[in-house]
Amino acid sequence: MTKPKVAVVGFGPSGIFASASISEVADVTVFERASVMGGQWNFMEEELVEPDRQHSSMYTCLWINAPKEAYELPNHRFDGELPSYVKRPVMYRYLKEYHLKYGQAAKVKFNCKVENVTNTAKDKFSVTWVDNAQPDYPQMETFDYVVVAVGHFSVPNDPIFTNEDKFTGKIIHAHDYRDGRMYKDKRVLLVGGSYSAEDIALQCWKFGAKYSHITHKNPNRMGYQWPKGVVETETFLKDFDGDKVIFEDGSSEEYDYIVKCTGYVHHFPFMSEDILLKTENSFCPENLYQQCVLLKNPKVFYMGMANQALSMTIFQHQSFYIRDLISGKIPLPSKDEMQTHYEADRAENATFTHPFEMVRYQGRYANRLAELTGAVKNGGQCEILIEWIKTKLADVTDYRNKQFNNFYTGNLSGENKVNWFDDREP
Ligand code: NAP
Repeated sequence: MTKPKVAVVGFGPSGIFASASISEVADVTVFERASVMGGQWNFMEEELVEPDRQHSSMYTCLWINAPKEAYELPNHRFDGELPSYVKRPVMYRYLKEYHLKYGQAAKVKFNCKVENVTNTAKDKFSVTWVDNAQPDYPQMETFDYVVVAVGHFSVPNDPIFTNEDKFTGKIIHAHDYRDGRMYKDKRVLLVGGSYSAEDIALQCWKFGAKYSHITHKNPNRMGYQWPKGVVETETFLKDFDGDKVIFEDGSSEEYDYIVKCTGYVHHFPFMSEDILLKTENSFCPENLYQQCVLLKNPKVFYMGMANQALSMTIFQHQSFYIRDLISGKIPLPSKDEMQTHYEADRAENATFTHPFEMVRYQGRYANRLAELTGAVKNGGQCEILIEWIKTKLADVTDYRNKQFNNFYTGNLSGENKVNWFDDREP
C-alpha cells in the first residue's frame, strides 16, 4: 500500500518532531525557507543573504529562561553534566541531534519557501514553493496532509503608538533586538510586560545601559525585585517629544531606544483562506481540536500554536498524535464531537488567571495526548516549572544559577561554569 504524502512546512522544533514521528507512517517532505534547521534556534547558524528576513527573534548571549529539566524528552536526554539553564547553541545542538537520531527518513528541502497551500477538489493539498536557486520557477506538488510548523514567535505584533514618529531616538521591536553591547551607556525603554521585556531589560542592564525602564498596561506588577538601573514604571507611555517619552501620569523621561516587547502574531500568509488558522496567543489556541487539528479541515494540522510552558514536550506529543491520526491508529471523532471538545477546552482555559494553573493545564493536555498515543506521560515537569516561577520571583537576576533535579534520573544538574550576569559571550 502506498503511504500517504505529508507536507511539513517549517523545520524548527515543531517541524523536527513532526518529520521524525510522521515519517514512521507516511512519506514526509519538509519545506524550510532557511538553509539550516532550527527555526527560532537558528540564530547565527546560517549566513543570511540581505535582504533576507531573519526568522529567529533570538539574540546574542541568550540563555533559556526556564530550566531544561522541564522539557527534556524521555527518548532524548541532555548530557547530565550540563547546568539547568543552557545557552542557545546547546538547545540548537539538542534539536539537531534529535533529527539525526530519529528524523532521517524525511525528505528535507532547504532554501525552499512555501508560497501557497490550497485545498484541491479531490481533498488533497497543492503546495507551491520557490527554491532560492530557481526563484523564477515556482514548483508544485500534491499532498494528502499538511502540517504547519512555522512557529508563532517570529512576526512582530507591532502596535503604532500615537505620535511615536515624534520620538527622535530609535524604535525597534524585540524581534530586531540583537546584541546587548549596542546598548552600553544608552537609555532604553521596553514596552510590554512579559518575557521579552524582562529578559531584554536585564540584558541591557548587564551590558551597561545607563538605565532600562519597563512600561506596560497590565495593572498587575511583574513582581520582580529589579536591580539598580532597571525600573518597572507605574504608568504607561502616552506621548513622545524629541527624545522624551511622556507617561500617562504626566511624568516624562529621556530615551535613546524604545524596544517594543509587544509579542508576536500567528501569521501564515501561504495558507489559503479556507485552511487558514486564525488565533490569538493563548494556552488553548482557537479553531483547533486537541490544539493541533484544524476544525474546518482535519487533514490540516498546526503544531505548537499555544503559548508555551512545556514547549518541546508538547511538540513531541503533538507529533505522535498527528502520526497516529494519519496512520488511522487513532480514529478522529465526528465533527460535532470535536467541536464540543474544543469548546470545553477553551472554556476551561478561560477560567485561569494564575500562571501555575496555566502550567498545570498544559501538563494535563500533554498527558491527554500521551494517553491517546501510549507515549510516556508527563510526571513532575509541571512542578519543576512552578518551582522555576517561584525562584524567578525570588531573584530575577540570579534564578538561572539554580540547579534542578533531572526528572528521569533524579540527579542534580551540573553547576553553571559562569554566572548569567558574568557571561558576555554570544
Ligand atoms: P508575549 O509573552 O506575548 O508578551 C507580549 C507583551 O506585550 C504582553 O505584556 C502584552 O500585554 C504586551 N502588548 C501587546 N500588545 C500591546 C500593546 N498594543 N500595547 C502595550 N502592550 C502590548 O511576548 P514575549 O514577551 O515576546 O514572549 C514571547 C515568547 O518568547 C515567550 O514564549 C517567551 O518565553 C519567549 N522568550 C524567551 C526568552 C529566553 O528564553 N531567554 C527571552 C524572551 C522571550 P498583554 O498581555 O496585556 O496583552
